[in-house]
Amino acid sequence: MKTPTTEESVQAALAAEAAAPFRAVGTPKDGPYGWRIVVTRVEDGETLLDLDYPEWSDWRASSAGHRLIEHGYMVSQPSHFHPERVAGWAVEPGGEMFTAAVYSRDHYVGPASEPEPKQEEEPEVQEELTATLWISGYSTSCGRCRKGTKMDATHHTVVLSLQDDENGRPGCGARFVEVGSHKLGMGPEFLQALRPDLPVKEQRLRTPGHTKD
Ligand SMILES: [Zn+2]
Repeated sequence: MKTPTTEESVQAALAAEAAAPFRAVGTPKDGPYGWRIVVTRVEDGETLLDLDYPEWSDWRASSAGHRLIEHGYMVSQPSHFHPERVAGWAVEPGGEMFTAAVYSRDHYVGPASEPEPKQEEEPEVQEELTATLWISGYSTSCGRCRKGTKMDATHHTVVLSLQDDENGRPGCGARFVEVGSHKLGMGPEFLQALRPDLPVKEQRLRTPGHTKD
């Protein structure tokens, strides 16, 4: 999969906004402080969430997105690439109302009980076990069995885990065929420097400006 161009990212943002099942509106309350965020279902206008932040003196676009996540909703991810959005929020004329297209959190990250984003699809034709080497800020793990491994391992021969008693047990044996990260700060160049022997897995979340080779 190639990296989307800016134009493609904008088109994806527009399409995602048009298809979003929910809509969030942020409005200031009377007085110098306080904002309210209301989430409604587009289909019937029913109010699903009504949040009150009495200490906010100004609109906080990123914080508003985080508060929605805590309540099971997410601002349309492609909208973050829209040139007229701030963290996915559109400012309405007059600057006193902010709106965003919203999806359920599960739409993007799966049920909250799952600790990691979706497991990658593995090609079924191969007999050999292969896996992505996932590097995060604190640990490195195997994309096949999700258990810890060494950052320089070529195969998942042994579990390396700081959290549980599986440390030192045999791993699933998969051969690492690519390196990836869910951390936004760990870009392709960073990962490539850590593991120059492996191709870098395409990242689903990308910061704007990474579209040029
Ligand atoms: Zn493994």
